[in-house]
Amino acid sequence: MRIAVGGIHTECSTYSPVLMTTEDFRVLRGAELLQADYFDFLNTEGISHLPLLHARAVPGGPVSQPVYDAFKAEFLERLQQALPIDGLYLAMHGAIKVDGMVDAEGDWISAARAVVGPDCPIATSYDLHGNVSQRIIDQIDIFAGYRTAPHIDTRETMIRAWTMLISALRSGIRPGVAWAKIPVLLPGECTSTEDEPAKSLYLQLPDIDARPGVLDANLMVGYVWADEPRATACAVVTATDRAAAKQAAADIAAGYWSERHNFRFGPVTGLLDAMLDIAESATTTPVILADSGDNPTGGGVGDRADVLKALLARGWRGALIAGIADRPAVDACFAAGAGETLMLKIGGSLDPTSPVAEMLVDVVRLDDPGPEKERQAVVRTGAIDVVLSARRRPYHNIEDFRRLGLDPKAVRLLVVKSGYLSPELAPIANPNLMALTDGVVNQDIANLASLHRSRPAFPFDPEFDFAPEAILSARWVESV
Ligand SMILES: [Zn+2]
Repeated sequence: MRIAVGGIHTECSTYSPVLMTTEDFRVLRGAELLQADYFDFLNTEGISHLPLLHARAVPGGPVSQPVYDAFKAEFLERLQQALPIDGLYLAMHGAIKVDGMVDAEGDWISAARAVVGPDCPIATSYDLHGNVSQRIIDQIDIFAGYRTAPHIDTRETMIRAWTMLISALRSGIRPGVAWAKIPVLLPGECTSTEDEPAKSLYLQLPDIDARPGVLDANLMVGYVWADEPRATACAVVTATDRAAAKQAAADIAAGYWSERHNFRFGPVTGLLDAMLDIAESATTTPVILADSGDNPTGGGVGDRADVLKALLARGWRGALIAGIADRPAVDACFAAGAGETLMLKIGGSLDPTSPVAEMLVDVVRLDDPGPEKERQAVVRTGAIDVVLSARRRPYHNIEDFRRLGLDPKAVRLLVVKSGYLSPELAPIANPNLMALTDGVVNQDIANLASLHRSRPAFPFDPEFDFAPEAILSARWVESV
């Protein structure tokens, strides 16, 4: 059995002016794809896996068209060379925006379909924050999406998609996909599966999987910072029975729609000043404040100095800000050297509209793992430490801090660019606060510019009637 594997995986805020380039992607080609931890479940005896290209990036702004075109051309060339194949597995995110293009995943998957022909089953795995389209559904046979946010089931989801593909090939029973759009677009921060009502909605999915004729039931929250016609929540169901698939999709869609008014932010949430007032009077530590509008793992630029400026204005004592993406500032720290003092501009290195802070800092520590884009610097101004990174990146794991000699548990206030906290930071937050800061992934959803989205959609349109309509993949209709 010959299974080809590849894909493209990122999430792009269409509000970001900072285009992604090749440098933003981790690209796995050929043999290195199968050696990567990410794909190490592809090791079943009797199956030869044909690794193509998988390009993955931290979320950000739109991908530049030439970069996307080059990835796609290489992927398709490798796919062509891998033929003949029995199946294709694509590990996708689902919320790519390519500059000047709508529905980039639709483009990618359609191009793959054109190469493999109509008879080859295609299985896809998606992030639940991906946006699906009819064009995508019409090209695929198998779909599985994450069921947790924060995402702790990435691997299980990939295995679900891949296992359904192998089972279909072994049994000869070809599944298909049905979907139902849900005209609701909410941010991940309101729809965490740690909190109600998302928690209960997602807990129902395994029961729907168990229905006769259904294989895999999915609720897609979608990606709200994509001002694209396809941006929407939806239900996607992989099944072997068409009627059961449509019923399951309609039921999942109805469940999400009926709860639309009940989604709330998990942590204590409010404007930055109000959150800093709470942090100031907190008697426990560490307070972990999420700077939500500039969260790089949601597509934020990550170069904003809003919180740093606010802390300086308050004369704050005892804070660690991790981090701010600022390559020129990192370069200046490396030029000065550890232990030196310099005047430094922090912020606005990528997005010219991001706020800038200028101050005298001591260079506390320099981290140079090799490539210039991986360099980091820790600087101190007054009683505030700031981690500066040469590239856009999150600081969501304990190891990110340990590497820099920092202990996130030992600070009075830790500021991270994040929405809901990561699985490693959430347990140590005491308490967790989320600031509704500005940025290209700000949480003021109803007021996001909405020039291209399909309407009506909640919460852009607060009141309208809706009844779910489940639609089969065109492939499945034609194979009746
Ligand atoms: Zn996600």
